[in-house]
Amino acid sequence: MSLIEQSLITLEEEIKTLGFPKFHAKSLFDFVFKQSVSDFDLMSSMPKALREALKAKYSIFPIKLVKIEDSSDLETKKFLFELNDGMLVEAVLIGSFERRTVCVSSQVGCPAKCAFCASGKEGLIRHLTRFEIESQITFIQCYLKSHNEPPVSQIVFMGMGEPLSNFEEVISAIDLIKSQERLGISERRITVSTVGLVDKILKVADMERQFQLVLSLHAPNQHLRKKIIPFARKYELSDILQAMLYFAKKTKRQITYEYTLLAGINDSLENAQELAKLVDKHPCTVNLIPYNPIIGLKLKRPEKEVIEAFRDELKKHRINVTWRYTKGKDIAAACGQLALQEKNKLAVIS
Ligand code: SF4
Repeated sequence: MSLIEQSLITLEEEIKTLGFPKFHAKSLFDFVFKQSVSDFDLMSSMPKALREALKAKYSIFPIKLVKIEDSSDLETKKFLFELNDGMLVEAVLIGSFERRTVCVSSQVGCPAKCAFCASGKEGLIRHLTRFEIESQITFIQCYLKSHNEPPVSQIVFMGMGEPLSNFEEVISAIDLIKSQERLGISERRITVSTVGLVDKILKVADMERQFQLVLSLHAPNQHLRKKIIPFARKYELSDILQAMLYFAKKTKRQITYEYTLLAGINDSLENAQELAKLVDKHPCTVNLIPYNPIIGLKLKRPEKEVIEAFRDELKKHRINVTWRYTKGKDIAAACGQLALQEKNKLAVIS
């Protein structure tokens, strides 16, 4: 078991049995969560013998770094982690100095099986625990500190996995992330993206949590949506949109609909008109995401003119629209791509 999976009380007991005062447990947590130091050798205010004893028995995190890949624009870094059972997950650090966002994974694989996504290719393999989720952020905080860079300011659950299908662990991870004893990052800075699990959206709305919920819509009707997101067969689009409206009413928030634009599939002017009609009564913004091509999939990113025409059509119908430029195209930044590439490489080697 790793150190950050221990409660403070358990760790105090452990340190006492090792023959040292229990206050070192709190110091250790402060090093990791407050000072972003995860190297035992740099925790110089703790006795060396204690550090050696802990190092021999524990790792700090339940995840281990496999590699980091930089994009050529230097604004995106992809971290590939190995879990204790050998599974691979990834987290992406996006943005420049002022605004640093970490995109975290919540599952190995994903049950949603979106047609355009590497993570969904093999379906769900397993859920991540709350500590495996929190560790992705804490690890990156420590990395940034060791490179004298500003800390993480935003967290998005848009990596591998459908977060609401790992509901308990994701909610518990958010509780850990915001805990003042740990990272202490405000829940308002956290965004959870879902393909639309109606019962869970309603549950989150009733919990009156502070984090933002966004819906990955990707299609203007149920027929097309079922083709793009096979998991969406379980829920009627009208029920999902009703649930999102309930969420907006309960939390007094705007809704964000993410719409990945796929060339020749959901990017026509008719699609834009249908989408506008679908959401024009909603207090919402539609965030357009031009598709990030994946090796092995035949899907394509629409031409710039097509994206602009789609955006303009929505604007014509008075829909708030943003266009998210997908960073890190050259480092396989679409969720699951790097993990999949690495897994395939290992399969070839073994
Ligand atoms: S896009 Fe997101 S929800 Fe869809 S398969 Fe990939 S990880 Fe899952």
